[in-house]
Amino acid sequence: MITSIRASALTNYPDCPRRAAAGLFRVEIEEEGFSLRRTPQGGGATVGTAVHAAAALMLTEKAASGVLSPLSAATDAGIDSLRRQLEEAGDGMAWDAPGRGGGTADPAAAETQIVRMIRVYREQIAPGVNPMLVEERLEAEFAPGVVLTGQADLVAREHGTVRDLKTGVNMPYSAPQVGAYSLLTRTCRSVETTAAQIDFIPRVSPKKEQPPAQSVRVPLVSAETAAVAVLSHIVRDLTVFRKGDSAGRILPGDPWAFVSNPKSVLCNPKYCAAFGTEFCREHAGSEGGDE
Ligand code: SF4
Repeated sequence: MITSIRASALTNYPDCPRRAAAGLFRVEIEEEGFSLRRTPQGGGATVGTAVHAAAALMLTEKAASGVLSPLSAATDAGIDSLRRQLEEAGDGMAWDAPGRGGGTADPAAAETQIVRMIRVYREQIAPGVNPMLVEERLEAEFAPGVVLTGQADLVAREHGTVRDLKTGVNMPYSAPQVGAYSLLTRTCRSVETTAAQIDFIPRVSPKKEQPPAQSVRVPLVSAETAAVAVLSHIVRDLTVFRKGDSAGRILPGDPWAFVSNPKSVLCNPKYCAAFGTEFCREHAGSEGGDE
């Protein structure tokens, strides 16, 4: 049996390994007799996916011809992505409450945000990029029977820079994910990656002015070390879930193979497929009480 671990899952794993396991190993956990929930699709994530679709279109064109595709074509790709996602999610969308979060309160707000965030990417980020690889799916064996998979947004010719596009309310920490992309690119494509960077486009309420993009460097050696450290933890935890650990008093199939963190800000039904299931009851005891 081959187990795949997505690079995009690495950053959040330490925040609550059990929540991450419910996403990574759903089939295996359900085969142990646990039922997991389906989490709704967030409006913010929907906007992010649409902006990524537009960025990929622009950069793929630039890699092929040296010229970015027109803003209108990129915007069409973003709106098409939004429509497809809304159709697939049906009633399973979780929009921001009015005046809260990033202001993605409904499809109209999402569309407004997508259009202006694509414009920011095209005007402020894309002109300075010389793409080598765009959204190329890569995978490599990390341990016997365990494969790391990932799709880096972009590897630029400039210094073999791994660049990850992020959208959201705040710029997220994502060193392990970016480090994994770098390792995959070097292993699978023999590209000597020497730098990493996050390109961040803030998502704010349509009533507010769109802020500019920000680009920040990520220390590459440290990011790659973080990726390997988190991956090693995941493989150890999964092995304990499968075989148990008598020294740790954990039987095979015990949810405690994956430590839980009910203090995580993402410990709620919107983000966690284990919330309120037999796979995790820890959140029930996390309310109230001073330290
Ligand atoms: S319910 Fe909370 S503690 Fe349990 S897995 Fe989900 S996020 Fe972690």
